[in-house]
Amino acid sequence: MSNLQQTLSIIKPDAVERNLDKEIKGMFKSKGFLILKEKKIQLEKSEAEKFYKVHETKPFYNDLCAYLSSGPIIVMILEKENAIIANRELMGSTNPKDAKEGTIRKKYGISIDKNSVHGSDSIDNAKIEIDFFFKD
Ligand code: UDP
Ligand code: MG
Repeated sequence: MSNLQQTLSIIKPDAVERNLDKEIKGMFKSKGFLILKEKKIQLEKSEAEKFYKVHETKPFYNDLCAYLSSGPIIVMILEKENAIIANRELMGSTNPKDAKEGTIRKKYGISIDKNSVHGSDSIDNAKIEIDFFFKD
């Protein structure tokens, strides 16, 4: 049965800074993702704090929000069959050291904090995150 989904993807500052956006978008397209919408923006720290609110009790929360707002990012709505899990698989493990060959984080991630991409982790969060960036 068809299960077309949309998920939110972010190319994080470390990857935008290294001009990896074309390569990363190419990896999405070659796996059959459609990029329905995209924009390049820079967040205020307060906006990053709102986006990552789910992590507010974690020890890395402050650094994470400072990092996500440290430079331009590219936010995208990706569409594909089972897009949420398919994107998580293409991204690879949070820590690039643990990511499998062929994944974005294995190829481009620098460290657990500078891991090049974000992807929604559930249907509910995909809706929330798409609205966060693209609600008109
Ligand atoms: N992160 C970090 N230190 C950690 C765990 C996570 O800096 O020990 C950062 C990392 O950049 C990650 C983000 O926090 O992408 C969100 O963490 P999550 O566990 O949701 O990982 P993801 O869903 O991005 O794989
Ligand atoms: Mg996450």
